[in-house]
Amino acid sequence: MTDFFDLVIIGGGASGLAAALAASQQDDSLRILVLEAQEQPGRKILASGNGRCNLSHFDLSVDDYCGQDRNFVQFLLRRLSTEELLGFWERLGVLTVVDTEGRVYPLSNQAATILNALSEALSRAGVELRTESPVIRLKSEGGHWTVTLLSGHMIKGRKVVLATGGLASPQLGGSRSGYLLAAKLNLPVTAVYPSLTPLVLAEPALSQQLKGTRFRGVAVLKNLTAEADGEGRALKSTQGEFLITDYGLSGIAAMELADEVAIRCEIPADEGPELPIRRAKLRPLAKWYPLRPDEQLVLDLNLVPDLSAQEVKASLWQRLSSLPAENKYQLLTGILPLPLAEYLGRELIAGKIGTGFNSSAGENRQVNNEPNSSSAIHNRVAETDGTANSSDEYLVAAASAVLNLWRLRISGVRGYEQAQISLGGLYTSALNPRTMEVRSRPGLYIAGEVLDVTGATGGYNLHFAFASGIIAGESAATALRK
Ligand SMILES: Cc1cc2nc3c(=O)[nH]c(=O)nc-3n(C[C@H](O)[C@H](O)[C@H](O)COP(=O)(O)OP(=O)(O)OC[C@H]3O[C@@H](n4cnc5c(N)ncnc54)[C@H](O)[C@@H]3O)c2cc1C
Repeated sequence: MTDFFDLVIIGGGASGLAAALAASQQDDSLRILVLEAQEQPGRKILASGNGRCNLSHFDLSVDDYCGQDRNFVQFLLRRLSTEELLGFWERLGVLTVVDTEGRVYPLSNQAATILNALSEALSRAGVELRTESPVIRLKSEGGHWTVTLLSGHMIKGRKVVLATGGLASPQLGGSRSGYLLAAKLNLPVTAVYPSLTPLVLAEPALSQQLKGTRFRGVAVLKNLTAEADGEGRALKSTQGEFLITDYGLSGIAAMELADEVAIRCEIPADEGPELPIRRAKLRPLAKWYPLRPDEQLVLDLNLVPDLSAQEVKASLWQRLSSLPAENKYQLLTGILPLPLAEYLGRELIAGKIGTGFNSSAGENRQVNNEPNSSSAIHNRVAETDGTANSSDEYLVAAASAVLNLWRLRISGVRGYEQAQISLGGLYTSALNPRTMEVRSRPGLYIAGEVLDVTGATGGYNLHFAFASGIIAGESAATALRK
């Protein structure tokens, strides 16, 4: 038996559900079907924003997205702004709130509010949802589309929206399915990488001793490969909170740098499941991907971005004056979280860090984090009797230098299971940005993360998923009326 629908939507995530609702709002007489591979739709919506769903950002800009086509993103953001998206939610009875950083959440602070609102509205509109219905083939024939399920069942649709999402978080339904369906239709797909995922560091002692420690700072990711002088070429910078883990660095600020690291890592092209599958059946994926052997990346951290050099030094002198000689490793405890302060203090005194600064100039130019057991600091501090002397001056200068520039070596990124988004996807140049329809495949619309559009953290990805879904759904419904 073959079912026939006006509009078939492949994928019941943020973009697919928004597309279905927008189409039904455009024309409530349409027969619309959503096919979802998993047992329930919208699992990433529920997981988003730590269960709070950061659904948009108040200050959307094309600069907060990457992908090969800036104009496409610019066009889409103009077409469906934050205000318009918030209007969409208000009409569903969902109120929203904006935090001090501009991130938009449901007023209830619960992601379930968003999924419930969508599900209820879809059911009221008579949109049919079929779960556990993975699509394995998509074919255009005789002016309509034939969609084949894994079960062999075939469904025909006059129009189709492909909204399968990307490969990030396979435990929540991420897969390569959308890329494979598109590739079979000769639509070009870029290389895909895990993004918004933690960084792996080549600093085992740090990870072991400080896992669980949070700190704030400004980070500059640098490529040392390109530069001979050791200063490196800055690739990207972030600021905010970092979390030291047993493998490296997590936290939003670290994860925002992952895209530039991931594209320099060794990642198998066929990584990840071909279809969304249950967690129990998930083939174990690599926990992390190492940098290619020819790549050398470091993270330069400024741990005191809001303090001037004078303020830092004054605070260090103040602290030093109250410390007995044997406790000088606690020099940084007034400035940094305790475990990190003591760790860096011990490393400084042992001469393992802060050995390359120019003490006569009083300012750091380049801090060498390589171990140096015969360090001048170690010898000079060992000589001290607790009163201010040249070794204290050296220690304060070295400490202040490390606070301004603490260099960590990067060895790779964590894998897809920890990634919030995939970088890359279908080339958007294949689509008409006004409608999200594939230029060479009339009647096929594509929306959401399966496309080569990747946003920063802060609600940009869900905004893109919802906005592109709404545009695709409205356009398909409009075309069906003609
Ligand atoms: C842990 C986590 C937290 C996040 N937090 C935020 C946040 O706070 N703010 C933000 O902006 N973004 C966040 N994101 C990113 C955001 O969730 C995604 O960008 C967004 O969900 C993408 O929507 P989508 O509809 O394109 O894909 P998805 O939401 O992934 O939906 C795709 C759906 O299609 C189904 N599917 C796939 N292939 C098939 C097939 N062949 N047949 C049938 N069904 C199929 C999948 O099972 C899935 O349900 C987060 C992501 C994760 C993983």
